[in-house]
Amino acid sequence: MPAQSYPALLNNHQGFLHGADYNPDQWLQHPHIIEEDFQIISRAGMNSWSLGIFSWAALEPEPGVYRFDWMQDILDRCAQANIAIILATPSGSKPAWLSQAHPEVCRVLQWQGPREPHRGRHNHCPSSEVYRREVSRINGELSRRFGAHPAVKLWHLSNEYGGECRCETCLQGFRRWLQERYGSLDALNDAYWNGFWGHPYNDWEQVHPFEVIHDGLQLDWRRFVTDITVDFMLMEKAAVRQHSDLPVTTNMMGHYPGLDYWRLAPHLDVISNDAYPSFDGRSDESTSLTQAICDANLMRSLGGGKPWLLMESTPSQLNWTENFVMKRPGVHRREMYLQIGAGADGTCYFQWRKGRGGSEKYHGAIIDHAGTHTRVMREVAEYGHTLPQLEAVLGSGVNARVGLIEDWQMRWGLECAHGPRKNPKHKGYMDEIHAWHHAAVSRGLSVDIVPSNGDLSNYDLLLMPMGYQVDEKLGQALERFVGNGGILITSYLSAHCDPHNRCHLGGWPGSGLRQLCGVWAEEMDGLPDGEVVQVTSETHLPGLAATGRARTYCERIHAEDAEVLARYRSEFYAGEPVLCRRAAGKGYAYYLAARMDQAFLDSLIDAVVEAHQVPSILPQRPPPGIIVQERDNGQQRFLFVHNATPTAREAPLPPGTWTDLTHGSTYRDSLSLSGVDSRVLIWQNISS
Ligand SMILES: [Zn+2]
Repeated sequence: MPAQSYPALLNNHQGFLHGADYNPDQWLQHPHIIEEDFQIISRAGMNSWSLGIFSWAALEPEPGVYRFDWMQDILDRCAQANIAIILATPSGSKPAWLSQAHPEVCRVLQWQGPREPHRGRHNHCPSSEVYRREVSRINGELSRRFGAHPAVKLWHLSNEYGGECRCETCLQGFRRWLQERYGSLDALNDAYWNGFWGHPYNDWEQVHPFEVIHDGLQLDWRRFVTDITVDFMLMEKAAVRQHSDLPVTTNMMGHYPGLDYWRLAPHLDVISNDAYPSFDGRSDESTSLTQAICDANLMRSLGGGKPWLLMESTPSQLNWTENFVMKRPGVHRREMYLQIGAGADGTCYFQWRKGRGGSEKYHGAIIDHAGTHTRVMREVAEYGHTLPQLEAVLGSGVNARVGLIEDWQMRWGLECAHGPRKNPKHKGYMDEIHAWHHAAVSRGLSVDIVPSNGDLSNYDLLLMPMGYQVDEKLGQALERFVGNGGILITSYLSAHCDPHNRCHLGGWPGSGLRQLCGVWAEEMDGLPDGEVVQVTSETHLPGLAATGRARTYCERIHAEDAEVLARYRSEFYAGEPVLCRRAAGKGYAYYLAARMDQAFLDSLIDAVVEAHQVPSILPQRPPPGIIVQERDNGQQRFLFVHNATPTAREAPLPPGTWTDLTHGSTYRDSLSLSGVDSRVLIWQNISS
């Protein structure tokens, strides 16, 4: 998105949001604890709490018996203390009395299997009329009482929507959804290629997603799960909007595989994310840093470039990881600066205070069981007190000139297909997305995530690894993009299928990409893990690594109308092309036929940036371990510099004079960073 200044995240709150999930309902019998919470919050440099996320049973202990007094008290005190409340609807966790009286509110995990018993959370049936009625009722009660309360600034719809229900009601809903989508069984049979194994349907009641042979059907089921979830979310939104016009959000989970967030995002006023990268600061964590940035870049992109909110993170340990490694000193601040660098205008935590029991009693929090005299608390407070010094950053965007085309349709299409590779998890779509994103971000490029039906016109360079589903429209958009001077890099397994997962005819890549890239992929070698095919580069692309290693997927391609930039050097296809480039109109299309090692991929991005003068934050790739990000409001530029390693590093700076926003030191050319250090700098106009 072009550089610009955006409105505040919340139009009734100034400054960064710095808050946490707050569960006073767990402490109602301990008023001195709640008293302490109000004393500690400003000491921690914090100004916000997310309230009521799992509070249904505390708000309504018996059907129709409301206990809103404790929440009223908390909200009144928050208003007095100027604490911004993000008020949650409690649908993420049902009261036990509701499941007992109406078992159909619970989810069914297996087709034709039993209802889930009451347990856990995030496990309702999204189609259940009873559950919808009850959620709408409690949301309406919350909104009627607190929707205009001065402390409440934002609605938090449910919590981490996800999962799916396989009950009869959901199945009937799916069949209606299919009827609306296809109109006739003939159209559906054609879309799913149901002649295969002689499986056409002649009655809608025969259509059942437990039929796994039709990948188009499996793909549609996933789409339906998103649509029924969006429908449920809109029901929740309508309920709170009865008495309140406050903005709404829901907390997403990065690249969560189960929901197409591009379909949720248009209904949200604020985009929010929960992010739990497992940084600990003991080794070079460049790869983990750029993966976290990938999720963060997705959040900014989901909102069309505007600032977003990190709703959950932890300043300390994750109780659900294999080990229990502490974040070393400084790691927390680096993690938060990284999120701000990708466009977050608020960073919050799960959770404010560790509970004494329950499954997350060891999950990181600001206040530990021991109290507040802890290293974690001090680091949170130190970070919180630097935030006012960073306020110039608020509202700025990210001027990304690189778009990474990836979305759930591409991913699901590939995962639902029976092959190549048996296990959907081993197909490695997200691995390749992360590898290409890493190559770009570690080079010092700002990257937007672009859905396959997105606007491509803002970018100089488009990356489309494993672009499995390409329809005519996307094919034409890519052709226009390149014709107008854009640089496209796409790869093996691209444009195999249409949106129904039917293979394109006429040679891969389809939908016009064969002509655009000037290559034809005849067949693909799927290698066992650990096996590699050697690759050697020609000399036509300065900066490209001389050699590389291909693995997992190696397409045999023919350069029909393209320049060969690298070739396989081993296997029976030695000498055949693996990387090609074709000039088309004012731009170029690159085709990479194999999954390459990271060093080769990095060099390809470096070489393309150099050859086509793609704008980047830094003139050259920074040394290993240094990651940079930039925000820009059209008038001011802010540089985020991170040391991904535990040892000191020298970071190169872009041309100009840069001032550290937290202590005012100025730098030119370079900056010394201690281990895991992270800085935010503002560019000083030379004339000032
Ligand atoms: Zn259901």
